[in-house]
Amino acid sequence: MPTSEFAVRTSERLQVIDVTPEVGEAVSASGVQDGIAVVSVPHTTCAVVVNEGDPDLWEDILKSLTGLVPVGGRYRHNEKYAGMPGEQNAHAHIISSMVGNSRSIPVREGRLDLGTWQRVLLLELDGPRTRTVRVSVLGL
Ligand code: ZN
Repeated sequence: MPTSEFAVRTSERLQVIDVTPEVGEAVSASGVQDGIAVVSVPHTTCAVVVNEGDPDLWEDILKSLTGLVPVGGRYRHNEKYAGMPGEQNAHAHIISSMVGNSRSIPVREGRLDLGTWQRVLLLELDGPRTRTVRVSVLGL
């Protein structure tokens, strides 16, 4: 199963990044014509989704998620690591758990089989950081 990865440098604490071009390149490079691409991140404070490529919508998504799970809320994880600025990130762990760290996307004729409005999006929940995105392509 060909697996490749690429790095994404995020610039904000909360940010959505369209990684569709990089994922598409990984699928092309795999040589798989028909199968499934599993896009995953080996992290606990970001997530992967498939949705529309509209930056205003991305703000809505981030605002809605952090409305449910506020940044800087009262969390045991943050209290345990009080004084460690980089670990005040329970909101990011919780949202990542809810949303998930991977998506599976059909591959057809050597390309991601996405709908017209669908993009592969990385949700940064505790940036800025350098994130690794892995693409495993399974031929069927
Ligand atoms: Zn943490």
